Amino acid sequence: MVTVSYLAHWQYVFPIFKQLEREDAITNFERVAARFNEDIVYLDLQNKDWGAWDDTYEFIQGKRPDYIEANLGVESFRNGQFDFLFFFDAAKHLYWHGIYDSNSNSLVFDGSFVQSVVDRLEDKLIQTQLDLFSLNVHYTGLVLLQDKPVVYSIRPILTSKETGPSKGFVLRGRYVDPSLISNFIKQTHVRFKITPVADKTKTYSDEIVVTELDDETLEVSSYVFSYGVPIMLVESFFPRDISEQGKVAVQSALITSIVLGFLLLFALWITLRKVVLEPVMHLTQKATAITNTKDYKKRAQVETSDEIGELSRQLNKMLDVIENRDASLEEVLSRLQELSMTDSLTQIANRLKFDSVSEMEWRRMQREQLPISIIMCDVDFFKQYNDHYGHVEGDQCLVNIAKALKDCVARPADLVARYGGEEFVMLLPGTDLNGATHLANTVLDKVSSMQLPHAKSTTAPFVTVSLGVASVTPHEDHSLLQLLTDADNALYRAKQNGRNTLVSEAY
Ligand code: GH3
Ligand code: MG
Ligand code: MG
Repeated sequence: MVTVSYLAHWQYVFPIFKQLEREDAITNFERVAARFNEDIVYLDLQNKDWGAWDDTYEFIQGKRPDYIEANLGVESFRNGQFDFLFFFDAAKHLYWHGIYDSNSNSLVFDGSFVQSVVDRLEDKLIQTQLDLFSLNVHYTGLVLLQDKPVVYSIRPILTSKETGPSKGFVLRGRYVDPSLISNFIKQTHVRFKITPVADKTKTYSDEIVVTELDDETLEVSSYVFSYGVPIMLVESFFPRDISEQGKVAVQSALITSIVLGFLLLFALWITLRKVVLEPVMHLTQKATAITNTKDYKKRAQVETSDEIGELSRQLNKMLDVIENRDASLEEVLSRLQELSMTDSLTQIANRLKFDSVSEMEWRRMQREQLPISIIMCDVDFFKQYNDHYGHVEGDQCLVNIAKALKDCVARPADLVARYGGEEFVMLLPGTDLNGATHLANTVLDKVSSMQLPHAKSTTAPFVTVSLGVASVTPHEDHSLLQLLTDADNALYRAKQNGRNTLVSEAY
């Protein structure tokens, strides 16, 4: 933006200032030229007043000896602001002349100057057919006399009524001298320099030439011609205030665009931060936190109505889906776990569950130094039961026994599991041998009380069970496996003792 602004200003704005500066300089230069012209016109009108005057008319014919004293004194030169005055008679002979010296404020005699004026006039008369005596003809211009620029006027001598015949002509001139120049400078405020043209045979353009001298000065120059002949080079010098102002304008525009650019960037940064960066960072943090913690209940909190707000809402919707899916997945998983830990026939814990829970409880009791008991339970003569009543009835019998076992335990930590086939196990953490034996008796009674007919049992006419009870407070020399073996051994002995009984042993 800054570069574009800079280039645009430099390319398009600054040249306008330069153009303005040139036009201003030319205008001022033309004012100088006009001022010169005015001066010549003034000199010429003055000359006309004197030329077309009865007194002068008579004087040139030798009829007014008092004319010189009355009209051609120092004051006339000084007040009229002219430097020399030449009267020529009808034969074009110099009749009277006066040359004014401003330094001494007196009329001076300068033979060589007079000669140069006369010569110059004669040159002119030879070169061009000057019509010096016609009523309406006059000559004005700029010439170099003894290398000094001079403005002059030539008027025929006529009567006050501007009638003829002309008895001669008056030549009046003024130096374009330093005092005149400084006067001009005061009036026009333009500094200028006049250089006489030395070689007039060269061709010069009459165009106004503008030159950039340096960063501070602009030169406007033009040749001044008199009757097609280059007389002098007028050069004016202008301070380059306008292009300086242009530079300042371009610089301030540049600074403005830099400042604006920075403000814009700052505003953009703030806006982007507020509108984009912060919400996006919030979303990223949330998403990362959710991914890391797997807590799909968390939600993003960008409430804006823009795309990021929409993204946040979509993320939340996605989290809803994930949360729901997670919940149902957990449900399925826990259901699966439950299933994997449940015996499909009896709907009590299976061997897998017993193994994991017993391990855990064993360690817990070891830590707390509390007794843990196990009751191994085996259905008596179950092979015969199956053979006699069939497997479907056998299964139903197992279901009933499982239910009976389950009904016997009350503590939450107690676990009844199917150990395999027609064998069940009861895990009793925090229960000592006494408690376990008591419970085993309850089991015997419970099963017996169900009075499930068993025609092939030699112990009783109904289904009975044998129980092996073992108990220990876990210590270094005793393992869970050992406790299980103890209970199994007790069960074996209960079988040997005639079945439908229990054997309990403490270790
Ligand atoms: P004991 O009094 O010495 O325990 O004799 P038993 O016949 O009960 O013992 P044994 O180990 O000889 O037989 C166990 C029988 O249990 C074998 C099998 O027919 C039966 N059985 C094991 N699992 C199931 C089961 O899931 N369903 C049914 N219906 N029967 C089973
Ligand atoms: Mg068995
Ligand atoms: Mg059995």
